[in-house]
Amino acid sequence: MVFKKGHKTWNKGKRGLRGKDSPLWKGDKATYSAIHKWVQRNKNKADCCVKCGKIGRLELANISGEYKREIDDYEYLCCKCHRDKDKWFDKIKSKVFRGPDGKFRKI
Ligand SMILES: [Zn+2]
Repeated sequence: MVFKKGHKTWNKGKRGLRGKDSPLWKGDKATYSAIHKWVQRNKNKADCCVKCGKIGRLELANISGEYKREIDDYEYLCCKCHRDKDKWFDKIKSKVFRGPDGKFRKI
């Protein structure tokens, strides 16, 4: 008995799987806001800005710049002090790099 092989080639219509573009930043942002909410819920709200003592609308500011999931890594600042701090962080970040031990070093 002879078995005839059919000559079928189905190479047409190669389906390439399209990889989804999923920017990591989106995930980081979601994590950050989740931590932020968590800190807001668990940290005792301050009556005044811890820097200048101003009473009014306070914002939760990160202390280390690493956005840790630690209550002590956050403090309540007024809008002005918060902005000043962020500016300071930008300055520092351009002159400082993080070493292999995770600590910031001056260049
Ligand atoms: Zn202040």
